[in-house]
Amino acid sequence: TIRTRFAPSPTGYLHIGGARTALYSWLFARKHQGRFVLRIEDTDLERSTPESVAAILEGMAFLNLDYDEGPFYQTRRFDRYREVLSELIAHGHAYYCTCTKAELEEQRAAQMARKEKPRYDRRCRELGHGPSPEAVVRFKNPLTGEVVVDDAVKGRVVFRNDELDDLIIARSDGTPTYNFTVVVDDMDMDITHVIRGDDHLNNTPRQINMLRALDAKPPAYAHIPMILGEDGARLSKRHGAVSVMQYRDEGYLPEALINYLVRLGWAHGDQEIFTRAEMIALFDIKDVHAAAAAINPKKLLWLNQHYIKTLPAADIAERLRPFLVERGADPAAGPALTDVVLALRERAKTLVEMAAQALFFYHEQVTIDDPKNQAILANAPHAALTALAEALATQSTWTREAVHATLEAVATDQGLTFGKLAQPVRIAVTGSSVSPPIDVTCALLGRERCVSRLHAAVA
Ligand code: GLU
Repeated sequence: TIRTRFAPSPTGYLHIGGARTALYSWLFARKHQGRFVLRIEDTDLERSTPESVAAILEGMAFLNLDYDEGPFYQTRRFDRYREVLSELIAHGHAYYCTCTKAELEEQRAAQMARKEKPRYDRRCRELGHGPSPEAVVRFKNPLTGEVVVDDAVKGRVVFRNDELDDLIIARSDGTPTYNFTVVVDDMDMDITHVIRGDDHLNNTPRQINMLRALDAKPPAYAHIPMILGEDGARLSKRHGAVSVMQYRDEGYLPEALINYLVRLGWAHGDQEIFTRAEMIALFDIKDVHAAAAAINPKKLLWLNQHYIKTLPAADIAERLRPFLVERGADPAAGPALTDVVLALRERAKTLVEMAAQALFFYHEQVTIDDPKNQAILANAPHAALTALAEALATQSTWTREAVHATLEAVATDQGLTFGKLAQPVRIAVTGSSVSPPIDVTCALLGRERCVSRLHAAVA
């Protein structure tokens, strides 16, 4: 079976680059009825935080990227790393190095003076040092030959062994280093396909050499390019939201984010909208673009609006609820949320926008903040607004059609066009000059609030 993994280091939030890597690994596993493993690479004790672990798990859950195994934590596997380390040493694939900082610096300076690429000169490699409190452990990288990586995205990449150095796999305090723990875990977890950011491409030949020394079959690799900002620079906070949770807080739906991420560096003809099932069926790691993709916030907004409009309104209502509560509204103190979603979903691109447009339904009163709207109300035909309030108060049924008929009757009575009456009514009732059609709005808002807001507007 195919086994993939997502292996984040918990040193920050889950950003969209990481989320896309997770998505591609997840899709690949799902497509091939494989297993998707989550592994938390938390061995960097100084930079890893429990908050970051929580943020990663929360981000995965939000995006609905379910894993079949894990989360595994590398910090709980130190015994295993020690075991494999001893094995490598016992088989002559690793050795203790006692070079001091000063010695290493001297080597480095001499190499630089000779215009050579600075790297450890392997002087301890054949000395057969035993363990000591100062000694680090280095991997005996092969001295000759090449490592060929047939990368599914980058194509064939060849590394010469004499360009690679004997990297440190355990520090003097015994703790394993990053490249070594990845190797042990990919081996133990039977990972068949490593899909990760291309910032790790240069680690790959070293990892392959270690896997071979351990008699393990190296997995297949796919290194995906990073995500760029709109300006072509490396994506950073100044380009706007970068963390998955920030997108959630800005009112983006996971369906939209996932759809956006899958297209960021992958395409299937000119299709833009993909259901999960379609993504799984159509995704092919070989079609991932080798060139870096740039973010496209407009497209994300467009996708978000698409999903707001097309997902079941009751479902959107449940997701809208916390945004209303957060803004101080009580969703029980007004019309059914689903009806409000149906009224608003054509005009809101995010849940934040929708919440802002929905607030007036759930507040007892409205405040009219915009001076332009205040002026419109001040100059409105007050007699007509009062007449309308009275007619609505006694109207026998309370439906959109009945409200519409009353508005028309009052307008005719007062010698106004429908529009001339509707404009101040909208401001009085919603507090703003944009809303769904006024009859729909009034019908939803309810008789009592409509009538009292009209009275309040002319008081
Ligand atoms: N922990 C690494 C990172 O977050 C990923 C390692 C890997 O995928 O091999 O960059």
